[in-house]
Amino acid sequence: FESRVPGIEEAAGAFLLEGDPFICRPYGSGHINTTFRVSCRLGDGSHRHYILQQMNKNVFTKPDQLMENVVGVTTFLRKKIIEQGGDPDRETLNIIKTKAGKNYFVDSLDGYWRVYQFIEDAFSYDLVEKPDDFYQSALAFGNFQHLLADYPAATLHETIEGFHDTAARFEAFKKAAAADVMGRAAGVQEEIRFVMENEIYTHVLGDLLAKKELPLRVTHNDTKLNNVMIDKATGKGLCVIDLDTVMPGLSVNDFGDSIRFGASTALEDEQDLSKVSCSMELFEVYTKGFMEGCHGSLTEKETEMLPMGALVMTLECGMRFLADYLSGDTYFKIHREKHNLDRARTQFKLVSDMKEKWETMKEIVAKCR
Ligand code: ATP
Ligand code: MG
Ligand code: MG
Repeated sequence: FESRVPGIEEAAGAFLLEGDPFICRPYGSGHINTTFRVSCRLGDGSHRHYILQQMNKNVFTKPDQLMENVVGVTTFLRKKIIEQGGDPDRETLNIIKTKAGKNYFVDSLDGYWRVYQFIEDAFSYDLVEKPDDFYQSALAFGNFQHLLADYPAATLHETIEGFHDTAARFEAFKKAAAADVMGRAAGVQEEIRFVMENEIYTHVLGDLLAKKELPLRVTHNDTKLNNVMIDKATGKGLCVIDLDTVMPGLSVNDFGDSIRFGASTALEDEQDLSKVSCSMELFEVYTKGFMEGCHGSLTEKETEMLPMGALVMTLECGMRFLADYLSGDTYFKIHREKHNLDRARTQFKLVSDMKEKWETMKEIVAKCR
């Protein structure tokens, strides 16, 4: 054990690991949980690896519900993958139970721990290096949607309430602007006006869900690149990991969030707005991969609403950044003055750009059908 994380030895000893654990090291570049790789020596001298994770209880205040979601989804995925002739040990996360038969372990300091089988011969990218990386990620998240298309999404816990309730986020934004606790509203009238002028987009998806024109789906809610494992041998997307934010939601939100950060030509906090646009090349790459991965499991309406998902998620994110700026930067960590304002501005620039490119986005979706 190289790490001094309290409770780790107790935790490692609590799970049904094959062989003798002999090394446990911090692993990966996750920001939310604390992740370790445990190596065990088997009788024949070979090694078996596991991922041991301490869950972040500050972020996830309902770890029990969270784990119920993860268990539900991974059990379902495993069955599906077996039915389809895939490799259930590499194409989904697999939970290792504790010696007491539980799906997670609570140590004596009230730390929550879980163990996954280690997915061998795979890696994840932290940054898009080439368009194919983005395409592989799209395929994997599309396939995730496809495999879970008949999962009873309503049975999942909403572990973070109202996570993508854009209308509620809009109300919260208005409150923050009205309260103006830092006296910053006067300086950002243009940005506030931008949000107000785009109000209709904050309830369009919620309304379609309420009218049942869009189905409730299992959503991942953290569709970034390094949450997909890539097969070392083939370079292809193998497995979607990091299921902490799996919740009932809209497929177009998962799609839209990927476009929001993945198809932007600049960083989220770029100050030179002339550099910020939504790349139609990358939009096409992701749309193609996502729709291929979905294998026809999206409804007509969901497909039609993909560009809307991108616009709404980007607007929502911009609203959240601006609301946080107005409230004194209490949620998103800042590294410079007006950091959240800069972030809000890039998102609003993207929204405007998407509106200009609306017809192109629709044509791309039609072409990928
Ligand atoms: P994030 O910052 O994305 O929320 P996190 O803290 O929730 O990350 P994970 O994404 O679950 O942590 O894991 C961190 C990293 O560990 C992953 O990016 C991946 O490289 C690696 N990893 C996680 N689970 C496995 C697994 N079952 N097999 C192999 N590697 C894994
Ligand atoms: Mg992750
Ligand atoms: Mg995570």
